[in-house]
Amino acid sequence: MYAKILIIEDEKDLIKGLKLNLTDEGYEVEYALSGLSGLEKALKYKPDLILLDIMLPEMDGLDVCRKLRQKKFASPIIMLTAKGDEIDKVVGLEIGADDYITKPFSLRELLARIKAHLRRTQRKKDVISDVYSFGDVKIDFIRFKISCKERSYSLTSMEMDILKYLISHSGEVVTRENLLDKIWGFKSSPTTRTIDNHILKLRKKIEEDPAYPRYILSVYGEGYRFMG
Ligand code: CA
Repeated sequence: MYAKILIIEDEKDLIKGLKLNLTDEGYEVEYALSGLSGLEKALKYKPDLILLDIMLPEMDGLDVCRKLRQKKFASPIIMLTAKGDEIDKVVGLEIGADDYITKPFSLRELLARIKAHLRRTQRKKDVISDVYSFGDVKIDFIRFKISCKERSYSLTSMEMDILKYLISHSGEVVTRENLLDKIWGFKSSPTTRTIDNHILKLRKKIEEDPAYPRYILSVYGEGYRFMG
């Protein structure tokens, strides 16, 4: 199936050009001319990727992005920024954008970024099946095993669930609250210390030197970030 791309942009000529080229590349393309209609369309149409302009009528692109993430919209969002736009990486990351491209951009550059982001999300979807490896570590989700160089350990189902969640959010900050919510659910109420203990155990199985982790990093005051 072809990936669906939603363009939220108020410059009609730009939309026309993008739609033509993206359709040529085999993508299914939808567009919206204002922030508000873009937000509605994104939630209804569930695109695999969004190209989002910042200066938009009704609701600006930053708000659209923020609202989409609040509503757990997970596909990559590439912001289309004009040269003078007061936006930097930090602002973008805070509101949940994945990437930026400054206008005027080259079509080739844009297509390359789109492909890279779609590949990344596809990889995340593939991960959770049976085997996943990174560095010297190999996780066998079917046999509940993890091996790192010559060492091999079994995983508890809790550790597996945590690993799966971290892997499927690779590169992102995962808060302790996210983990409590996703892994334990609302029924039980473990403390955040429980999570930290599980992470410590996982690190002993994964990391060469658990005191200086390479894969499950701590993000001060937030939680963890998986890099693998
Ligand atoms: Ca605009």
